[in-house]
Order: sequence, then structure tokens, then C-alpha cells
Amino acid sequence: QALLARIRQHNPQLNCFITVTEEQALEQARAADAAIARGAAGALTGVPIAQKDIFCTKGVKTSCGSKMLDNFIAPYDATVVERFNQAGAVMLGKLNMDEFAMGSSNETSYYGPVKNPWDTETVPGGSSGGSAASVAARLVPGATGTDTGGSIRQPASFCGITGLKPTYGLVSRWGMIAFASSLDQGGPMARTAEDCALMLQVMAGFDDKDSTSVDRPVPDYSASLNDSLEGLRIGLPKEFFDEGLDSDIARLIDDAVAEYRRLGANVKEISLPNMKLSVPAYYVVAPAECSSNLARYDGVRFGYRCKEPKDLHDLYTRSRGEGFGAEVKRRILIGTYVLSAGYYDAYYLKAQKVRRLISEDFKRAFREVDVIIGPTSPSVAFRFGEKSADPIAMYLSDIYTIAVNLAGLPGMSVPVGFSKGLPVGMQIIGDYFSEARLLNVAHRYQ
Ligand code: GLN
Repeated sequence: QALLARIRQHNPQLNCFITVTEEQALEQARAADAAIARGAAGALTGVPIAQKDIFCTKGVKTSCGSKMLDNFIAPYDATVVERFNQAGAVMLGKLNMDEFAMGSSNETSYYGPVKNPWDTETVPGGSSGGSAASVAARLVPGATGTDTGGSIRQPASFCGITGLKPTYGLVSRWGMIAFASSLDQGGPMARTAEDCALMLQVMAGFDDKDSTSVDRPVPDYSASLNDSLEGLRIGLPKEFFDEGLDSDIARLIDDAVAEYRRLGANVKEISLPNMKLSVPAYYVVAPAECSSNLARYDGVRFGYRCKEPKDLHDLYTRSRGEGFGAEVKRRILIGTYVLSAGYYDAYYLKAQKVRRLISEDFKRAFREVDVIIGPTSPSVAFRFGEKSADPIAMYLSDIYTIAVNLAGLPGMSVPVGFSKGLPVGMQIIGDYFSEARLLNVAHRYQ
């Protein structure tokens, strides 16, 4: 009730929630009280959380930030949602996001932008901006996010919270609306690594409904948070600390690295030579997959349908034309172009080869080091409108995060201080399934 009151007070200004599920939340809270009274509490019994509006929630609107799904009430729960329910968590509502998770500032949401609670003239980051801002504003202690190219880490960084993008395949994508299926991964966003560990514990693990889900035991993420960092090998990629990086951000990361040295870590410079190709490769692969995934929104089975269509073709074209926003259309057009017969080899196939080279860069690096540290984003939160007219400038705000998705690796953003009054995030990248290690490294600095 205290958080619902806080949401009522602050959400009109911050715009974090698309839907507040007040009645359902109180019902779940009463059930949690009863479970505790019976001595039957689960891992998160009574813990309030909120879901990014990309996760299907049975009986509750699931919009994905789009007019296309403004009328969509999901008929089932996503696996992630089901697992939170089973653990006893109380869902307060559904969080605002860039349309279909395409964006870095929340400005593409059909429901209007989320405001960054640290300075409401600046963006919260995206696409999980509602998740990051709601945790930062203390409207909820933990929220889910999804990360296709940086959408958990960059908003976590802009809002001064902790976010973890797991290894591809660790968290089920079933019921998580698809943007780019080979890159999408859900993960926790919370104040600290400790809280992220509790959430990931619930979210992670094999799901036979997702064919890319990996069947392997899930470690106890909380158990190793305080492990020693003596002998930890940290790599600093020189490509992450070039002229493009703000000097305040570089200094804050240096401070964190100095602390890791005091804790016994060994630090060395490494190189990820193909890093500069990650944004161009991503903006071929992600739109290609998006153009295919979004073909299902045809105005026929569910979602938005135009008024009085003349014929079937008119129904398709006007439903999609009216239901999708400009950024989504841009991605669909790029995607169908790079997949078309005449351009497939030159763009799509080439991008897949570049993707392999990027993975190999990381593979080489992880033979020498245990974790890679660098910035999450080249700048702190920018102002509304600053990049929205220039897609390329917007795309570049994910320059340090995108390679991690192309390789399928886990990555985290951890708050390390402030520059010009706005939060700065540090990124920690690990080898496949090293989430426990990342949480440990993050926790020791928090
Ligand atoms: N900003 C990137 C994009 O617009 C990444 C988004 C994401 O991770 N969902 O595609």
C-alpha cells in the first residue's frame, strides 16, 4: 500500500507505469501475508516488483509500448512472470518502455516518455526506462527489463541503479514479446547487485517452452556475493577508453578499478579489435529479426485493427501503418531490405560474419582475463529531444553494450558515482554463465 501510494503520487510526473495493477497487487499481498502466517513463504514472498510491459501477464494489458498492442490483454503469463508469482512476489504493474524495445531514451513509447527521476528534463535511457526510473524513484524495489543491445544496462546507468543482462539462454524468453530473438534476454534491475541476485535466482533456469533456453544447473547467486577478489584478472579494453568517452566517466571507472586493485585484483589492458563494427552489425541483424518477428501484427488475429478496411490489403497496410510508430517502421524497412534477395549477402550475411568476429574477440579476451570492465554508456543521461531527430546519434549511445548481445555474453551496469549531478554506470562483462562472478564483483564495490 505504501508503494501504491508513492506510485499515485509520483507516476503522473515520471510516467513509469503504463498499467498499475492495484487490486491484483493487494490480493497477492494478502496471499503473501497468509503464506507467511502458514510458514510457507517462498523466495520473494511479499516482495513488490514490477514487470516491463514486454512480458505477457494473464488478464492484464501487455502493450510493449505500442499502439499496436494498446488493446492486447495477454491470455497467459510469460515464464518469467509465472516464476515471480510462484516465488510469492507482488506485481505492482507494467512498466513503460520504448515501442517494441526499440530505442535508447524511452522517447519512442506510444505512452509518452518516462522522465529520469534525477533530472526530469533528461531521458531515463531505454528501452527499459520505466523499469530503471521506477526503481531509482523508489516506486518499486525491483523490476524486470530486457536487453537486446543495451536496454537493461544503459537505463540502469542513466538512472543510477544496478542491472544485469544474463547470458543468452539463461532466462526464458517464452511470453516475452520478441524484438530480435537471437539477441533478446530478460534480466533483473534493482538498487544493488544483492537484490539483482535474488531476482535472477527466480528468473533463471531451463524452460522447455523456449527452444533457446539452456538446461544447466542454476548456482546460488547470493552465496558468492562476498567472495574474495584476490587474484581476479580484470581486462580494460583499450577500445572502450578512447576519445569518445566523457572524462568524468573515465575517472569514475579508474577509481573503481583502483579499488579492485586494493582488493587484490590484477588489471591489464586488453584489445577487442572488432568492437567498432558492433553498432553497424547490430543495426543489420536486429532489424532483420525484427522485420520477421513483427510480421505477425497484421490487424487480423490480435492487436490494433484499422477502421473500415476496404479489403484485405487495406486492412494489413493501414493497421500496420497506423499501429506502428516511426522507429519501428524504420527498423522493419531496414530489416526487409537487408534480407531481400539482392542484398542478403552484402548485408545480412556480412553482419553475421562480423558477429562471429566479435564473439571471437571476447573468446580470446576471456583466455587472459576473468572479467572485462568499462563504461556502460559514453555519456550520462541526455536531454529530451537531443538525439531523437538523429537515429545514428541515438544508436551510438549503445556503443559499449551492443557487442555483448552479439556474443550472447552476460553484462552488468553498476552505479559508480555522478557527473554533473547525473548517475554514471560502470559495465562489467563476463564469460558465458559467469553471472555469479559478475554479481560478486559488483557487490564488492557496492
Ligand atoms: N537501443 C537499442 C535499440 O534501439 C537496444 C534496445 C534494446 O536493447 N532493446 O535497438
